[in-house]
Amino acid sequence: MPSNAAEQMLQYLRQAATELPVVLTDEQLAAFAVYYDFLLEYNEKVNLTRITEPLDVAVKHFADSLSLLQTGWLSPGGRVADIGTGAGFPGIPLAIMRPDLRVVLVDSLRKRTVFLTEAVQKLALVNVTVVWSRAEDLGRNPDFRERFDIVLARAVAELNVLTELCLPLAKPGGAFVAMKGPKAEAELAAAGRAITLLGGGGVAVVSATLPLLAETRTIIRIDKQRPTSAKYPRKAGIPERLPLSAVAK
Ligand code: SAM
Repeated sequence: MPSNAAEQMLQYLRQAATELPVVLTDEQLAAFAVYYDFLLEYNEKVNLTRITEPLDVAVKHFADSLSLLQTGWLSPGGRVADIGTGAGFPGIPLAIMRPDLRVVLVDSLRKRTVFLTEAVQKLALVNVTVVWSRAEDLGRNPDFRERFDIVLARAVAELNVLTELCLPLAKPGGAFVAMKGPKAEAELAAAGRAITLLGGGGVAVVSATLPLLAETRTIIRIDKQRPTSAKYPRKAGIPERLPLSAVAK
């Protein structure tokens, strides 16, 4: 049985879904309630998120993740990586809504991947795999490098750093999609050199309004046009310490 807090969260989620608009089945709503209760319970012992109130989780975690469904960028049956997924955002909500997607959740913090593995089991998400790794290491691993149709990231790093973590994982013809806040355009301008160096090309920027709270979000899509040079990604930690935008030409 869902807790009272989960029932409240579901009321907000239903309203938010109507605004997006996204249609949620009873089974999907039940899955979001199970996810919410497990997130809150686990968050007592392991730091997963500071966002816990029913309205905030419904909108800032769940509906924000679901806003990606509106872009039309997640092709049927696509292989999707969620880099720095934390407690599973945006990857788990997308996997609940789109069983056709094959979703790989990646995080460098072991305790978070332990939570994710348990959550995925509880939710019986057979389309999800959890990987404990730094994105830089995965980008050099042939099982993952250039294997994804879409590489997603929300709230992990600035775009000039994040592009080096994510774009090597996208196949040529695929894309890296970053979920950003209001400073997105400035971040994009600063990431221009990194995008070109890593094989990126066409860029699309979409504004999304967070339902119920009316906050603005920006979703950026960077197309992978050419294979990434074997030089990238550089060793773990270097993209953050020395972003490509700052490296001498
Ligand atoms: N994407 C989630 C969200 O939007 O709620 C989590 C965001 S949290 C602020 C950032 C997460 O990225 C953390 O869980 C952290 O462990 C992970 N992370 C940071 N750098 C990483 C890297 N280089 N490779 C993989 N995960 C990374």
